[in-house]
Formats: sequence, structure tokens, C-alpha cells
Amino acid sequence: MHLNKSTAAVHSGTIKDPQNRGILSPVFPGTSYEYLDTDKSVYPRYYNTPNQESVVKKLCALEHGEDGLVFSSGMAAVVTTLLALLKAGDHAVFQGGIYGGTHHMVTAEFGGMGIEYSFTPTNDPADFEAAIRPETRLIYIETPSNPLLALTDIAAIADLAKRKGLITVIDNTFASPVNQNPIDLGIDVVLHSGTKYLSGHSDIICGAAISSREIMAEIRSRSVNLGGTLNAQTCYLLERSLRTLVIRVERQNQNALELARFLARHEAISAVNYPGLESHPDHVLAVQQMSGFGGMLSFELKDLDVVAFQQNLQLIHPAMSLGGVESIICSPRMTSHAKLTAEARAAMGISDQLLRFSVGIEDANDLIQDIQQAVEKTYQSMTTGSFSGS
Ligand SMILES: *Cc1c(COP(=O)(O)O)cnc(C)c1O
Repeated sequence: MHLNKSTAAVHSGTIKDPQNRGILSPVFPGTSYEYLDTDKSVYPRYYNTPNQESVVKKLCALEHGEDGLVFSSGMAAVVTTLLALLKAGDHAVFQGGIYGGTHHMVTAEFGGMGIEYSFTPTNDPADFEAAIRPETRLIYIETPSNPLLALTDIAAIADLAKRKGLITVIDNTFASPVNQNPIDLGIDVVLHSGTKYLSGHSDIICGAAISSREIMAEIRSRSVNLGGTLNAQTCYLLERSLRTLVIRVERQNQNALELARFLARHEAISAVNYPGLESHPDHVLAVQQMSGFGGMLSFELKDLDVVAFQQNLQLIHPAMSLGGVESIICSPRMTSHAKLTAEARAAMGISDQLLRFSVGIEDANDLIQDIQQAVEKTYQSMTTGSFSGS
């Protein structure tokens, strides 16, 4: 039976418990399984224990994939997938604006392994096409992007790759399967940092890859060698988290849209990047390829001190990471892009006044009030006079 996402999130993959008739998946922490009268060797690093398989079934139901694997981190999912699909002499085209950890991994690791790569200057499909060489085997995208929430046309990239006989991989962490199902748009492999929306409570680290049976078989055989497996207890916590994924993300979509509209009207804010705003340059594409606009946005403070503003927030935490039920704000200048010069950041469109906002599930009005009071307090501390506004 084909289940809709809200139902799949709750029910898909649950392990039956006939012994106790419990309605939840039991947790099987064992690392040792009998083999004499079975045709399958079960072992956690073979990614085939009951809790690994059950949470993968739920993820496949949510992402509309046939098979998948769960990993010990998002980066384990990224690196295992890329090393499974690329070998020495191959070339891959990466979207320029991708997660810093992935960008760093590619530039630090690929050269030594003889894998060639290019980063596109923009998200325009023409830039991806221009970067393709005879040795190109794979295209890698991430949309919406961090921290500017720029979109990449998923269907256009999938079509380009099909014409050229290339595999496509997407990092779908920011959108989550609630807002975007790239496999339906023709993408081959969907990756997640499960540390973010999938887990949603800022308390576990994990990753996932979801694809067709055929491609997953290739990735699985390399995964066993690379060893980034996920333990049963964390699989269960991920399964538990996924039961509420849809309602969490729907609330985050609502809150983010409300916050984006508030910020766009605010005289202390000079720019708001959110695909759900009609003013966003990729809004039409967002409506086409996303079913919700997500819980991530970013904005620029006009002339308020960025550090003081963050310190003056009372509810919203200045903190790293994203996707949790609690609202988190972070300055790319002070975190993900701290190693770049101000000029290099400016060339990427990342102003030193930019803040990235992972909107939580709190009451939107409380979040608005928190921002308002932090703006006022910061103005008061910066000027001896009163808040002039412009
Ligand atoms: C966090 C993140 C990753 C890396 O995931 P980890 O779980 O930290 O290893 C990859 N891609 C994106 C978009 C992320 O936000």
C-alpha cells in the first residue's frame, strides 16, 4: 500500500513484535547473529541489522526511494556515496555553493585519490553543462543552499545528467523529505545529514543515502569497507524522531514564512533570503519543486552590531547546526565561513552582517518578540540617543 508522508512517517518500517504485542519497534543491540541455517550474514557493519533496516524502510517511504543506508554521520553518507560512485580518473561536477564540510572534504581528499572535480560558479544548469568533460561521471547539487537559500533547478539538472549519461546526487538536508522529493524529479541519490531535520532534536548524529536498489547495491558494497555504520540505539532514536518529522517541519515551514515576512518589513533588516517570499529570485522555482519552503532563512542586519544582536536574544540561541525544534541563529562570518577573507565572502554574496536562522517550532509571535527586543536593546547599546530606524 502506498502511504502518504504523514502516515509513512508514523508507520512505515516498524518492526513487528509478536512476542509482546508491543506497537513499537523493539531495539536489537546485538552485534552477533547465528549463521548456520540462514543465507544471510547479519552484522551491524553490513548495514543489515533489524533496526538499521527498519529505519531505512521509513526513510525510503518518505523519499520515494527503493533502498537506502543509514550512516554514523551526514559526512559518512556523503563520502561513502561519492567514493562508491567515483574512481581514480573520474571527474565530478559539484555545485559551487555546497555545505562547507563537503566542499572541504572534496578539496582535501579527492586529489590524493586521483578523482578530478569542478565547482560551478553559479547554480545555473548551463554552468553544470559547461563543466562536463569526457571523464565526468557524476553531478552533485544541494538546494536550497547554505546560507543564502539559493535554489538549483532539480529537474533541469536531472535531465542534463540523463542526456549525458551521468549519475546525480543531491544533499537534501535543508529541505527534508517533507518539502522536497528529488527522486520524483529524476535525481538518482538523495543524501541527508540526519543530524538536522530528520532527528530534529539536536541530540543525535547520523546520515542517510536513499536511491534505487541497483545504485544502493554499489554503495552498500563500499560502505562495508568504509565502516561508517550506525548503531541500533541511534537507529531507534532516528526512527522515533521520524515519527514526528512531518508535523515538526510543517510547523517550521509556517514559522519561517511568518518570520521571513516580519523580517522583510523590519527597518533594521536590509535583506531576507527565504524561498517562500515572492521577492526571492527563485520563488517561482521553489513553488515548482518544493511542497513547502522549509525552516531555514537568512537575513542581513542593516547596521546593528552582529555580536551584540545575538547576545541580546533571549530565546533564540546563537549556536551551530540546524533543524532542531529550538530556534538557532548563527553568523557565517563567525562560523562556517570564518576562514575566508571578508572579500572572499563578499564575492560569494555573504555579507559580514548576514545571520542564518534555523527556525524552530516555538510560537512564532514569541520569536518575533525576541528579535524585536534584541533589535531595540542593540540600538540602545550602540547609540547614546534613541532608535532612529533608518
Ligand atoms: C550538517 C550537514 C552535513 C554534514 O552532516 P554531519 O551529520 O554533520 O556529518 C552535510 N550537508 C549539510 C547540508 C549539512 O547541513
